[in-house]
Amino acid sequence: MATLRQSALLIAQGRQKTNVVPPSSKISDFFGSNVFGVKQMKESLAPSVFKKVIEATERGGKIDPSTAEEIASAVKTWALSKGVTHYTHWFQPLTGSTAEKHDSFFDAHAGIEKFKGSALVQQEPDASSFPNGGIRSTFEARGYTAWDPSSPIFIFDKTLCVPTIFVAYTGEALDYKTPLLKSMEAINTAAVEVCQLFDRNVKKVTPSLGVEQEYFVIDKALFATRPDLVMSGRTVFGHNPARGQQLEDHYFGSIPTRVKDFMMDFEIEALKLGIPVSTRHNEVAPGQFEVAPLFEEINKAVDHNQLLMDLMDKVAEKHSLKVLFHEKPFAGVNGSGKHNNWSLITDTGVNLFQPSNSARENLQFLTFVVATVKAVYDYADLLRSSIASASNDFRLGANEAPPAIMSVFLGSTLTGVLDELEKNGNVKIEKGDNMYMKLGISKIPEIILDNTDRNRTSPFAFTGNKFEFRAVGSSANSAGPMTVLNVIVAEVLRTMVKDVEKEISAGKEKKIAVVNVLRKYIKDSKKIRFEGDGYSDEWAAEAEKRGLSNLKSTPYALDTYLDKKTADLFSKHNVLSAIELHARHEIMLENYLKKVQIEARVMGDLALNHVIPTAIQYQNKLIENANGLKGLGLDNTAAIDTIKEVSKHIESLKHNVMDMIDTRRKLNKEDDIAKRAKGYCDNVKEAYFDKIRYAVDKLELLVDDEYWPLVKYREMLFIK
Ligand code: ADP
Ligand code: MG
Repeated sequence: MATLRQSALLIAQGRQKTNVVPPSSKISDFFGSNVFGVKQMKESLAPSVFKKVIEATERGGKIDPSTAEEIASAVKTWALSKGVTHYTHWFQPLTGSTAEKHDSFFDAHAGIEKFKGSALVQQEPDASSFPNGGIRSTFEARGYTAWDPSSPIFIFDKTLCVPTIFVAYTGEALDYKTPLLKSMEAINTAAVEVCQLFDRNVKKVTPSLGVEQEYFVIDKALFATRPDLVMSGRTVFGHNPARGQQLEDHYFGSIPTRVKDFMMDFEIEALKLGIPVSTRHNEVAPGQFEVAPLFEEINKAVDHNQLLMDLMDKVAEKHSLKVLFHEKPFAGVNGSGKHNNWSLITDTGVNLFQPSNSARENLQFLTFVVATVKAVYDYADLLRSSIASASNDFRLGANEAPPAIMSVFLGSTLTGVLDELEKNGNVKIEKGDNMYMKLGISKIPEIILDNTDRNRTSPFAFTGNKFEFRAVGSSANSAGPMTVLNVIVAEVLRTMVKDVEKEISAGKEKKIAVVNVLRKYIKDSKKIRFEGDGYSDEWAAEAEKRGLSNLKSTPYALDTYLDKKTADLFSKHNVLSAIELHARHEIMLENYLKKVQIEARVMGDLALNHVIPTAIQYQNKLIENANGLKGLGLDNTAAIDTIKEVSKHIESLKHNVMDMIDTRRKLNKEDDIAKRAKGYCDNVKEAYFDKIRYAVDKLELLVDDEYWPLVKYREMLFIK
């Protein structure tokens, strides 16, 4: 009888191509057609109402009930005209995915389709099943969702989706969006103050984000035969293929046809949703790819990234493919990240991380660069914990991934400029001097935009006109790390203004006051700058010497959320209260625990139900063979040796699985969730996962391929 694996392989190899036809050869014909955007609003709203909406979306104004009523009515008409029957508030609870609860437009009592302004603005989903970290005890499990007009309403899967925040009745945030919006306000306030030192016209600063999303694609039938992938998103076992990524021929190689059709298909749907997808290519590992949209305002970019992931998942189904967003679905090959390209843009149209031809603007540019470097230095642990998850732990510090040590790469040019500024600390600048020339900051632009000055091994790199936070995991919601980044930079900017003002009141000219503060900050935060190979062991040693943290695993990194420094920071900037922080800490620990628990269980089940029985079956075959040889009077040592080897691995496997189950049982009695999570990390994951995997992967090599039940790495990675 064929194994499930063999049938799945036959199915995967016999797939037909799915034909994808774009609605028009011109993207502009359908871009944003599923979004109730500016164009649709202008067409359907009275000019006075339209003005109010634009004001609310662009300048954060309030939308009054009668305006909401008019918008709801226009949205309903638009949605019905597109065959939409249901609506939902769309939000991002702390589970890490998106949530929705669909209601019909049809009102059976009235016999007509209805969508009231109040339904647009606020909803009360039955939210008791979403994680809340103890904020809402179940008897008063009430939370509500409230419309976020700064992110456009869209149609997904024949449902009208209204982007919303999700908060408890007592006001605490239960989602990712609420603190992100507050952090935008925090950095806006702080950055405008700093900009005012250079340009009085700046009234608003908005963070921008462009997310490069990496992912793996495998055939759906192959996916379905791997309980570990289905349950935990990663393969807990699997021997490395003979041909992995060592040939490096996959990167920028041609994209397999089936995957290309899938890409085209989801890109078309993404474009209809107003997601400006622009690049697609192969990544380093076989079976790995990347999609990147153009950058947008951070809140929209985060929503779009979450939506894109949902969309890819759905469209993949049509192509009989499965998308893996896990950070490390396959051991030994490259993992997946979500590179967060971040910058700050003023309402006067200046990217504050863009070097310019104007010396004055360059000083402003350096101010923001230095503040960001200092923020990463001051809050390295918090930034690290913002990307902590059970799945990202497998990636950080592994193949082709940034380490868990936070550092900043600036490139040789910018490093030179900062070093110069620091070194020339004593250069006297007289009134009337061309300070910019004297300090070497009038000539940054031409050189800095040199694209070859790149370092792909840094977790946080300056890339010409933006910073790229590369340690973010591919499955993460970017709102988490971006909230932290906004807040820590806001904090430094605020202190900076105070420090500059001090210098000014001590009689310094403004520019010189700024330069003096920059020099101090450059010196203070120097240790966080690293230009070398971030993947090397030398760097880990060097970082330790410098006193930088290397928080390798999540439950330890998350301790940072309990620090007074963290609580003070978030409450000062009005982003998260102490209660909200505690709740988040608990939810993240819970998520971690659940993930490790699930993996441990899957490992045990697979070992006991799949691997060991298969190995024994093969062993019996070998025993028959050994006896047969002996009966014929022939040498059977080779057969006996293999029997012994198989036995040895079966023994160790069984033994370790049993011990691991025992350890888990004991740990489950631990009431303190942080201790339990750390116990799972050290005494379950670290203590057993590798040992168990080692035995299984050895058996995979020994056991007859015909018998092996689990689809192998070479099959998952190369069959498309
Ligand atoms: P790279 O610089 O990594 O080679 P790209 O130039 O294609 O690649 O940019 C990667 C991502 O960074 C894209 O999503 C792009 O839109 C985004 N990006 C470019 N400029 C900015 C900016 N000023 N702020 C935020 N993201 C940006
Ligand atoms: Mg990049």
